[in-house]
Amino acid sequence: MIRVVLLSLTLLLSLSASGAQRGNAPVANDPIRTLVSRLDLDKYKATIKGLTQFGDRRQGTERNRNAIDWIEAQLKSYGCANTERLKYDFPLVGAPRSAGATGGRVRGARTPTGVNNDPLKQPDVKLRELNTPPTVNGPREEVYCTKIGTTHPEEMYIVAAHMDGIGWGEAANDDGSGTALVMELARILHMPDVQTERSIRFILWNNEESGLEGSRAYAAQRKDLQGKEDPAGSRRYPEPKWLGVIQHDMMLFDHGMPRADGTMSKEQRPEADVNVEFQMNSIMAAQSQTLAWALEAANVQYATDYPATVGAHMQSTDSASFQDLVASVSVRENERGPHIGAGWDPQWHQPTDLYTTYSDKDFMLGLNAAQTTLGAIAKLAGVSLKP
Ligand SMILES: [Zn+2]
Repeated sequence: MIRVVLLSLTLLLSLSASGAQRGNAPVANDPIRTLVSRLDLDKYKATIKGLTQFGDRRQGTERNRNAIDWIEAQLKSYGCANTERLKYDFPLVGAPRSAGATGGRVRGARTPTGVNNDPLKQPDVKLRELNTPPTVNGPREEVYCTKIGTTHPEEMYIVAAHMDGIGWGEAANDDGSGTALVMELARILHMPDVQTERSIRFILWNNEESGLEGSRAYAAQRKDLQGKEDPAGSRRYPEPKWLGVIQHDMMLFDHGMPRADGTMSKEQRPEADVNVEFQMNSIMAAQSQTLAWALEAANVQYATDYPATVGAHMQSTDSASFQDLVASVSVRENERGPHIGAGWDPQWHQPTDLYTTYSDKDFMLGLNAAQTTLGAIAKLAGVSLKP
């Protein structure tokens, strides 16, 4: 008995020691903490609101192209000035899908999911009209910009989200919330006193909702350009070597499991979390898992309200286009398979995915995801602040 007590005491002491190391004990003059403190809920919300002026931003429409122009103008205004566009045609030919995906296991109550295609389910007539012009096959573009590393411009992390949506709403959460997160990180990492050793590319994919074509086109067109200096001797790398891909998709809503009668809690649940997923059935699973834990550690250190949870079933988002090539994770409000797939987000691809649907507690989950990725990417890319 005494032995058991002693053992438990030892265990307790060692746990609390490791807890102190992992906890919020602030490092003096931590530049990452300073950076993370520059994230602002009102600015994050304003960027989401700005995206919703283009309705559902469905791929292959004028409202989608206008949204890309608007995003590009914002990136330039943040100082991410050398914006570029990847061009491809939809439908996409010859860019393979990643093969591996395990989806996790659904438990408990579930409600039906699907894509709304009925315009009359959108009661806001103005928004209905904005969303009315149909998608047209043909040329597509997506925008990205890059912060160049000071000592390793030949290597980069990709921080991404998809800017297109569906369902006759405003695609505020799916994926205005992820797009705004990436834009906010681009803004903060381009403040005049910020430098990073390695490069960081901010990409807003198009054509996610139609089958990940924007990210698949990027991976196919650019994977063989990685790390090549062009022109020789210039220290310029049009496609720095990929070190990791962090995708953001639906960041706001974690109200828990639907009840048995199909209703949902109206409030963000207090135990809401940021779900970081890698794909266990992928070639880069081990590297991706390491990247996922880097985000979890950054969350422990820097996120103010909500924890991060790591899962092994990343799927159905643009990081899947990279999962066999480089460390790849997705960041979400819920697990994509067992939660979103079981109806935990009733706004998903529905006319109700509107800016006004969400409360500050919802937006705060997205901001915590931003704190998590910013903390992780700042460390991974080697951030420092000029005095
Ligand atoms: Zn999405």
